[in-house]
Amino acid sequence: MDVVELEGRLQKLADEAVEALSAVEEKEEAIQVKNRYLGRQGTVQELMSVMREIPNEQKPQAGRAINRCKQQIESSFEDQLKEIAERELQRRIEEETVDVTLPGRKTSAGMGHPLRQVERELIAIFDAMGFEVAEGPEIESDYYNFEALNFPPDHPARDMQDTFVLEDGRLLRTHTSPVQVRTMHAYEVPIRIISPGRVYRCDSDLTHSPVFHQIEGLLIDEDVSMADLKGTLTAFAKRFFGEGTKIRFRPSYFPFTEPSAEVDVECIFCAGEGCRVCSRTGWLEVLGAGMVDPNVFEASGIDADRYSGFAFGLGVERIAMLKRGIRDIRRFFENDVRFLEQF
Ligand SMILES: [Zn+2]
Repeated sequence: MDVVELEGRLQKLADEAVEALSAVEEKEEAIQVKNRYLGRQGTVQELMSVMREIPNEQKPQAGRAINRCKQQIESSFEDQLKEIAERELQRRIEEETVDVTLPGRKTSAGMGHPLRQVERELIAIFDAMGFEVAEGPEIESDYYNFEALNFPPDHPARDMQDTFVLEDGRLLRTHTSPVQVRTMHAYEVPIRIISPGRVYRCDSDLTHSPVFHQIEGLLIDEDVSMADLKGTLTAFAKRFFGEGTKIRFRPSYFPFTEPSAEVDVECIFCAGEGCRVCSRTGWLEVLGAGMVDPNVFEASGIDADRYSGFAFGLGVERIAMLKRGIRDIRRFFENDVRFLEQF
């Protein structure tokens, strides 16, 4: 066979295919017709086997003829699909009517995650007391997360805050306290901030999650005393847990405060009588607090003789679990709508 004959046969095939396509009414039918000509076992493919018989010098011309044929069928197929789609749309417009009396479809309204709800509530309380919200990065340097907060290298208190370290030596912050350091560096005293945010530690069980949320407070001014700290936290506990809620301080240790205290709130479930939640003690541990250590002031260039201040921190998950009676911290992060919808 020579190229002229091949061209003739290809053109005939193309004409046939275009005619067949123009007669179809359904998409599936169009696909079938197309495959009959262009499929792996299709007619055009079969014809390609005669390429062997074509003299070498005519092969480029033959190749072009084959492509032309394929393109003709392909574009006729596309045109046909468009036409079918348009016909279908036209049919639906004509046939389907809208029942304006049907009730609308309801979309369910979203809402804040239970942790966000509690976080907002906490922020609102401190905001009303004049604290401003300060934020900082979640990836921190060792300096801001530990050193400037009086955790020297190899200090055993670092073990209590084991975290995730990046390849370049930076780490995921273990508390929001680096924001306090950044604030002390950037602003003049007096300072009155709260820093809410996500923090990380290598911890995972019923009450610990490798990622959790904190809100910390820092107040620095002249003549700030432990009494101011206690007054502030008492006001907070009353606003958040209810009027009449008592708090107590127990001595504790944090590298960045001196003296330091664990702050307990009278058990909101048994009003101090003693129950399962409070392990029969009548008290719930909710906060850590203390007077800012002079070493921390020194690291931030604040005159420790002139100024004093207090700091406190609380875990948002812990507070949310207490307030909502949630037993397992992992519920917050599983994104099970059945759990989330309850709040
Ligand atoms: Zn109790």
